Amino acid sequence: MKHRTGLRILPATVALIASMSSVAAGLSACTIDKDNFADPPRTSQVATTMPENTAASASATPTDARRAAPNPTSPTAATDARQDGTNGDHGALAGRTIYLDPGHAGTPPPQSLQVTDGRGGTKTCNTAGTSSDAGFPEHEFNWMMAQEIQQLLTQRGATVLLSRGDDTGRADCIDARAEKENSSDADAVVSLHADGAGQGNRGFHVSAIADPLPHNDAAGSTALAESLRDALAAAGFVPSNYLGSEGLNPRADLTGLNLSTRPKALIEYGNMRDSADIVLLSSPDGRRRLAEATVAGIEAFLAR
Ligand SMILES: [Zn+2]
Repeated sequence: MKHRTGLRILPATVALIASMSSVAAGLSACTIDKDNFADPPRTSQVATTMPENTAASASATPTDARRAAPNPTSPTAATDARQDGTNGDHGALAGRTIYLDPGHAGTPPPQSLQVTDGRGGTKTCNTAGTSSDAGFPEHEFNWMMAQEIQQLLTQRGATVLLSRGDDTGRADCIDARAEKENSSDADAVVSLHADGAGQGNRGFHVSAIADPLPHNDAAGSTALAESLRDALAAAGFVPSNYLGSEGLNPRADLTGLNLSTRPKALIEYGNMRDSADIVLLSSPDGRRRLAEATVAGIEAFLAR
């Protein structure tokens, strides 16, 4: 079943049902540019019940993070490559196919390379993404998250497809990634990102399609986003205090969501320019726990 409109998207659980005013406020963020935070910080119901989760591995640095082994597979090969799980039956993930899209690319394309935005306009092939104040690039964080999540998913019997096979090249543009996701047999597609906002803006948020187009799987996108949000919150991670509502931030301005025909959601794991969030995002233990929560969210979506 498809939603008539993205404005009908609501949290999945009674505990998270927001007031009509807060829902409207959250949806208003759908069209806000990343660099233009018009919404005032708001306290999330989830956030007030969840412990802070950034203390672990405080000694970890971006330099530590960069020691993760690179994937030697070429982008082309990895796009088509499958890593089939071999550990037998592991619940809802066994035998399922998950498409992971680590956002951006190791080498940003020129601004002049434009592609469709999925709604009649154009966008850059891939934006450069953000980075921490210390120079830890978002594309590298996204790549590390993809590796962690891929490992966990394959251990649970899932097949994992990746939108890019390394963190060095230009990789596919955002429209080509969506086309490959659509032509795969993926049961869920998850784009992996981190945000770049001002100090004090912190926490994760998950985006489903807003104002869906006829070809979108709006119900699937929303259910996947809610499952991911629920799992991240249950693991103790703090929902965004600056975008969306209760960790959800549906968007109509993302090519990857606009072109998608599959259940697809995009995670912003935190703000790389916030001093608390970057400790979590730079920590191998933090990334591992974020990956575990992501896998739990995907599994809950598939088991629904
Ligand atoms: Zn990003």
